[in-house]
Amino acid sequence: MIRIYNTMTKRKEDFVPLREGKVGMYVCGPTVYNLIHIGNARPMIVFDTVRRYFEYRGYEVNFVSNFTDVDDKIINKANEEGVDASVISERYIEECKKDMQALNIRPATTHPQATREIDGMIEMIGKLIENGHAYVAKDGTVYYRTRSFRDYGKLSHKDLDNMQTGLRMLAVTGEDQKEDPLDFVLWKPKKEGEPYWESPWCQGRPGWHIECSVMSKRYLGDTIDIHAGGEDLIFPHHENEIAQSEAANCCTFARYWMHNAFLNIDNRKMSKSLGNFFTVRDILDQYDGQVLRYFMLSVHYRSPLNFSKELVESARTSLGRIVNCAENLRFLLEKAGCPVTGEGAGAGLQAAAAAAMTDEEQALLPEADAFRVRFEEAMDDDFNTADAISALFELVKWINSHVSENSSAAFMAGLYEELRTLADVCGLLLEQDKDLDEDLAAYVEAQIAARQAARKARDFAKADAIRDELKAKGIILEDTREGVKWKKA
Ligand code: AMP
Ligand code: ZN
Repeated sequence: MIRIYNTMTKRKEDFVPLREGKVGMYVCGPTVYNLIHIGNARPMIVFDTVRRYFEYRGYEVNFVSNFTDVDDKIINKANEEGVDASVISERYIEECKKDMQALNIRPATTHPQATREIDGMIEMIGKLIENGHAYVAKDGTVYYRTRSFRDYGKLSHKDLDNMQTGLRMLAVTGEDQKEDPLDFVLWKPKKEGEPYWESPWCQGRPGWHIECSVMSKRYLGDTIDIHAGGEDLIFPHHENEIAQSEAANCCTFARYWMHNAFLNIDNRKMSKSLGNFFTVRDILDQYDGQVLRYFMLSVHYRSPLNFSKELVESARTSLGRIVNCAENLRFLLEKAGCPVTGEGAGAGLQAAAAAAMTDEEQALLPEADAFRVRFEEAMDDDFNTADAISALFELVKWINSHVSENSSAAFMAGLYEELRTLADVCGLLLEQDKDLDEDLAAYVEAQIAARQAARKARDFAKADAIRDELKAKGIILEDTREGVKWKKA
């Protein structure tokens, strides 16, 4: 049974889906006006892993994550560049998708965009006005009447009266036309140089919160299983989404609310506005996306994570050990005539699995299986990726000490499959050199051959020079009993 910490109830609850075998989840996505930073990548990686684990457990997941493509920041950037706002948002949606791919984040089932869902927003706002939860001010702004929603504050566990004192201090334009300082905008009139849409109230554009209520309803239904995002979204964004959706649809909006803690730098939230950020692209210049992914999953998603070069380096080393183990298995399987890389990889594994295992190996299998059980227990416990990854690590250690060139292909194939399956739940790929092009591989192989020839001719200076040259290019050679192996540093 999967257990989830629900922000709404502040405790871990058994996950019971609305429809058996199915999960509908909505994750608030980025506002697209710039390259995403690694703080934005945290919820993406975390909830992609949650999705993968549900699928591993046999659920069919409908995963919806939006792009906010209308917003002040997008409009400001468009005006700076003298282009349409859509040019900016489309550009950064594409860039975001590239980053996602590098981090092995699977595309959502649907990636809705706010500007394409305006009709649905107008409809929901209309309904809220009709049933008294919203009102139109003199200039055509539509406000949500916060006090009309009795449960307001239930997610963030805030008390309306305390909130009011805080909010009063904010000087917001249009504040004077609100019935109550707590009311928030659903629709606002256009300003010069801004994109706008026709509506029954004025030409204008939506407030931020309404898009998620509408898109979630359209793609997942009135009540969804899981709603997720970074913890900064609990208030006001998610609180406002609940107020809108529940007042419009008259039913529970989301059954489980999941929020990731911040990615910090020097113990402060990494954010665009503070300027203390690294873009995903900055990190990808120096590291494989897998390293960043491993780094993010090495702590539980509800614990803050402090970014530092040292931690990323240590993620790289740890990931390297997992990848090396897989590489070693592949190497031995290939030697045993069952290649699991290149074309027909699956066939190699199948052939190996069909072969016979020794009795001693059979007897060892439950030991190996215990790591999978530990992995699942950790993931069942509110997606504890930190513990799941340590189980994966234990499995690697176990494989390293129990597999040798004398192992049967069937034994190695079984272990390889287990390693690959668990790594895949974390979105970790075992092919270290997945981005390595064939030219480089051919070059390295040729250099290795040249080095072997130099050694044979007892020209050790030349052999060492070749090794050093490869090292300078980030290629490490390893002399093993089975021959020379190589890997990226
Ligand atoms: P934004 O583009 O600011 O709306 O953020 C998109 C997503 O990234 C939201 O789920 C935010 O909660 C999340 N997010 C932004 N900054 C951080 C951070 N430093 N750590 C973790 N999550 C963040
Ligand atoms: Zn949202």
